[in-house]
Amino acid sequence: MPGGAVRETTRQLEDSEPNMADETKPNRAYHQTVFVNKNVTLDNVKCFGFDMDYTLAMYKSPDYESLGFELIRDRLVSIGYPHELLRYTYDPSFPTRGLVFDTRYGNLLKIDSNGNILVCSHGFNFLPRQAIKNFYPNEFIQRADIDRFYTLNTLFNLSETYLYACLVGFFSKAKRYINHRKGFQHGDLFMSFRSMFQDVRDAMDHVHDTPNLPILLTRIKEVAKVFLATNSDYAYTKAIMTYLLESDAKPSSPKKTWRSYFDLIVVDTRKPLFFAEGTVLRQVDTDTGKLHIGTYTGKLGHGTVYSGGSSDVIIGLLDMKGKDILYVGDHIFGDILKSKKRQGWKTFLVVPELTKELQVWKEKRDKFEELKRLDIYLAELYRHLDSGSTERPDISFIQTRVKVVTHSMDTSYGQMGSLLRSGSRQTLFANQLMRYSDLYSSNCINLLYYPFNYLFMAPPLLVSLSSPR
Ligand SMILES: [Mg+2]
Repeated sequence: MPGGAVRETTRQLEDSEPNMADETKPNRAYHQTVFVNKNVTLDNVKCFGFDMDYTLAMYKSPDYESLGFELIRDRLVSIGYPHELLRYTYDPSFPTRGLVFDTRYGNLLKIDSNGNILVCSHGFNFLPRQAIKNFYPNEFIQRADIDRFYTLNTLFNLSETYLYACLVGFFSKAKRYINHRKGFQHGDLFMSFRSMFQDVRDAMDHVHDTPNLPILLTRIKEVAKVFLATNSDYAYTKAIMTYLLESDAKPSSPKKTWRSYFDLIVVDTRKPLFFAEGTVLRQVDTDTGKLHIGTYTGKLGHGTVYSGGSSDVIIGLLDMKGKDILYVGDHIFGDILKSKKRQGWKTFLVVPELTKELQVWKEKRDKFEELKRLDIYLAELYRHLDSGSTERPDISFIQTRVKVVTHSMDTSYGQMGSLLRSGSRQTLFANQLMRYSDLYSSNCINLLYYPFNYLFMAPPLLVSLSSPR
C-alpha cells in the first residue's frame, strides 16, 4: 500500500485523521505492521527462534497458492495488464509441478526425462499431436536451453504456472488482440510471450518475500543468536531452506549455505512435546541425512543439525535463558502457547490472514464506526438507569441494526467471516492470540521494518473494536 499516513496500530488508525501524515513514522504499510499485546524491548532479546513451516516458509498450503496467484495477478493489473484478468482465480486442479514454460511460444509443456513432449497446452487449450508438431517438429525440446525454457519445478511455482495459462488463455481469446506465433498484438503494441514471462517473474519477485529472508536473518544474526526449530524432518527442511535462502543469491555474492544463517538448527522437534519433556537429542549427518546413534552430549557445533531434543536442551546449548528468547511461529498452540506458558519465552505469532483482515478492516471502516456508534448509543440509553428503574428502553432497533451490520462485515471476509471476530465479538483464536503472543504480524519478514532496539509498546489492538469507557 503506497504512501499516506502509516500508523502502527489500529487504535491509532481509528483516531487518526486520514490526511494527517505523521512524518516521524517510518513508511510502513498496514500489512507490514507488527502488532503488540505486551511490551517487548527488542534490545533485550538475545536470541531469535524460528519455526519453519508457515513461518519462514509461507508457501506450502493451497490457500497460499491462491493468495500467491491473486497477488501476482493483481500486481500485473497494477502495472497495466487488462482488468479482465481479475476474473481468474486459482484452480489447484490445473497445474502440476515440473511443467516447462516455453517463453518463445507461450506453451506449457509436460515432458519426459529426455525432453520429449507428453502434453502441451496453449492457455487452457490442450493441443492435439499435429498442432504440437507445428510448434515442435520433433515433439522434443532442448531442455538445456534455459534461456528459452523455464522449468516450474517447485511447489512455489504452482501459482505461477496457472497464471501463464490464464494470461495466454485470456489474450488468445480476447477479440481486441491479434494472435501471433510469438505473442499478441493490440494496435501498435506487440507483446511477446517472452516479455509476458518477464513481467510475471518480476511480479513474483515483487510479491514474494523470499529475497528479504536472507536479509532479515543476516541482520538478526549480527545482533543476536538465531535458531530454527521445526517439526519437519531434515530432508524436507533442507529442501525448503535451500530454496528460501540460497536460490535468490546473486551470482556475484559469495555463496552462503542455508545452515550458515543459524547458530543452531533442530529438526523433528515434535512441538508441543519439545517445550515439555521433549525427546532424545541426536545429531544429523548432513551428508546422508541419517541420525547418529545415541544421545548428543557435546557442545554446540557450528553448522551442526540436531534432531529432537527439548527447549531446555536447546536453551542450554545456546547458553540462553527463557526470557532472552523471542520465538516466532504460526501455531498458536504448538509454537506460542506452549513456549510462553512452559518456558516463559517471548512470542511472535505469524498470522498470514492478517493481510486480508487488515484490508477488510480498512475498506469497511464505516461499518466498524457504525458498530461503535451503536454501542455508544446503547450505553447512553441505560446511562441514567439502575436496578431501581422500571423504565424499559426499546433497544430492538439497535439489536437488529447490530445484526445487519455484523453480518455485512462478516461476509466481507469470506463465508465463515473474520478469523478474529464476529462483529465486535472476539473469536477464541483472537482471545488466545491476545493472551499468549507478545507480538503478532502477517509475516515474520515484517520485523525488517523495525530497528533492533525498538520498543514494542502494548496495548493498541487489532482485535479490540472499542476502547474501554
Ligand atoms: Mg509452523
